[in-house]
Amino acid sequence: MAILVALLGLFVGSFLNVCIYRIPRRESIVWPGSRCTRCGTPIRPWDNIPVISYLVLAGKCRGCGEPISVRYPVVELLSALLAVSLLYRFGPTPAFAIYYAWACVLLIITFIDLDYQIIPDRFSIGGIVAGLPLVYWLPVTYRDALLGMLLGGGMLLAIIYGYYFLTRKEGMGGGDVKLLAMIGVFTGWQGVLFTIFTASLCGSLVGIPWAFLKKGAEGTMKAAIPFGPFLALGAMIYVLWGQNIIDWYFGLLG
Ligand SMILES: [Zn+2]
Repeated sequence: MAILVALLGLFVGSFLNVCIYRIPRRESIVWPGSRCTRCGTPIRPWDNIPVISYLVLAGKCRGCGEPISVRYPVVELLSALLAVSLLYRFGPTPAFAIYYAWACVLLIITFIDLDYQIIPDRFSIGGIVAGLPLVYWLPVTYRDALLGMLLGGGMLLAIIYGYYFLTRKEGMGGGDVKLLAMIGVFTGWQGVLFTIFTASLCGSLVGIPWAFLKKGAEGTMKAAIPFGPFLALGAMIYVLWGQNIIDWYFGLLG
């Protein structure tokens, strides 16, 4: 079953690449079929096998030799890895299917945010609307999900206003607020706290050196890298291993 799920994850990942590329460009995600972004040559089915085709083609378009971004196989592998990890965590249950669909949305958000520094509302607000009825099948109570949504939105809003009040600069965007509210629906308020802590930790480890490297060029620390990908990462870690990490941490404290 794990092998089947991994294969499914690879093909879903291939579709996620289409979404990541086309949705911000307002193109249809179903038509036309995949083509080279430079020469427009349609990609034949046998050149469109996740990861394998990338290796066979040595990362180049068959038509014009344009390099294909390594991101395509990376997204496919991440999708497969998340699918298998969630299967091991939840078994073949509705919670597994819902969390995998949610992980796909987080993957799309991550890469669109990296490219454009935006988080489309259709994923954050859409995730809240779609997520609330699905909470029934998740290991999260309705009370915790609603508190998570309010805490996620409220906490980040407070941080953004606080940061603005202190520095008169905008740090994060409203997209991050809506994303954390959406994460709260799927993880409960406990997950929101874990997510914001983990995202800030990872964000500082990556972001502070990055900000210093970039500071000369832009003269400001503002949004050196988007925060959305770190929120998505923190939320995924919580769903997969959060309880183990929390137990381990409090075990250390005795
Ligand atoms: Zn080409």
